[in-house]
Amino acid sequence: MLRNCQECNRVYAHPTSKECPQCQRKRQVDFKAVKQYLQSNTGATIQMVVEDTGVSYERVDEFIKEGRLNVLPSDAVRRCGVCQALIQNGRVCAKCKSQLSPVEPTAPQEKVVTPPSSGKIHSLESIRKRDSDN
Ligand SMILES: [Zn+2]
Ligand SMILES: [Zn+2]
Repeated sequence: MLRNCQECNRVYAHPTSKECPQCQRKRQVDFKAVKQYLQSNTGATIQMVVEDTGVSYERVDEFIKEGRLNVLPSDAVRRCGVCQALIQNGRVCAKCKSQLSPVEPTAPQEKVVTPPSSGKIHSLESIRKRDSDN
């Protein structure tokens, strides 16, 4: 099935995606850039993210709404994960929070930045002693 990419209008064939493979890849690269920027610049505003990563404001906004960013820009609009009410911080509003179990892990945010490794790691176990005694 042929479609026009909603980003670049290129014609491409894909049953479900709204974007061509190139734009999808770009989106992933953008997402990674935004995510990593926010992880190392906690408290950055959306404007800072846009300026420093070069990702468009609309796209950053989209990432925020998708809820895939674990660190949000300081001025991002947060919504309660339960009732969608606007909240200042956390994941659920105070009302919903009180209804949920009070156990909320406050683990420190670890910076887990794993650069994509292109090379495969081969364990040199091929040089093994053949020790077969019957
Ligand atoms: Zn495209
Ligand atoms: Zn709520």
